Amino acid sequence: MKDLTQRAPNPTKKNENDLTDFQKRVADEYLVDGKAGPAYRRAGGKAKDPYRSGCEIVGNPKVDAYIRERQAEIAHRLEIDAETVVRRWWEIATADVNELVQHRRCACRYCYGDDHRYQWVDEEEWQEACRQSEAAGTPRKAPSNDGGYGYLRSADPHPDCPKCDGEGDAIVFVADTRRLGPQARALYAGLKTTKDGMEIKTQDQAKALENVAKHLGMLDAKLNLGIKEDDSLTALVKAIATGGKREEQSLLPNED
Ligand SMILES: [Zn+2]
Repeated sequence: MKDLTQRAPNPTKKNENDLTDFQKRVADEYLVDGKAGPAYRRAGGKAKDPYRSGCEIVGNPKVDAYIRERQAEIAHRLEIDAETVVRRWWEIATADVNELVQHRRCACRYCYGDDHRYQWVDEEEWQEACRQSEAAGTPRKAPSNDGGYGYLRSADPHPDCPKCDGEGDAIVFVADTRRLGPQARALYAGLKTTKDGMEIKTQDQAKALENVAKHLGMLDAKLNLGIKEDDSLTALVKAIATGGKREEQSLLPNED
């Protein structure tokens, strides 16, 4: 027997050690499916009538107390799990899609060239263009390097550029998905290669927000938004901001 005085004071715990090993095995099996007979058999019981013997064991007040205690523990764990799920939805709902994929307006080739003429990245790029021009089947005028070098694709457009009117070129930028923050990671749902290129898939943010609202009881069957809506949202935001210390608002699923 363990020394009960060394345990944290918890009145519901005291029955656990009063059970025999066999009673405890039956009780643990009973917790799996709530069936006394099969639980008795799985625990290794050999009586002719396993249902009756099983019922006798789970009906024992000490065993019953143990089962109730374990059920409470399981319910508590489920509550934590539900909170994790809602938190995940909240992360998805509030993630900034720009962290994942961006549509950028960047400098065109003429934005920063000398006198707004075509600007090359470097001399090597220009020489390569000259070689390709020479090798072309139909003679072409050799590319000029009057605009100079130093083109930087990520630069902002030049507001006075006569070619792009300061609007630059459209560039789609996709983040390195290995280095996403937790919210963008929750939002990211994978990559699909299509004949037109890559397709970034994201979780449904509107659906995620709706799920959070449902869990908070903000939407009933009639989609009747109650006056408490703001309070619920505030409570959730507070709960997340304070690392899970919930105020009045429960994050448990609704019963419906
Ligand atoms: Zn430009």
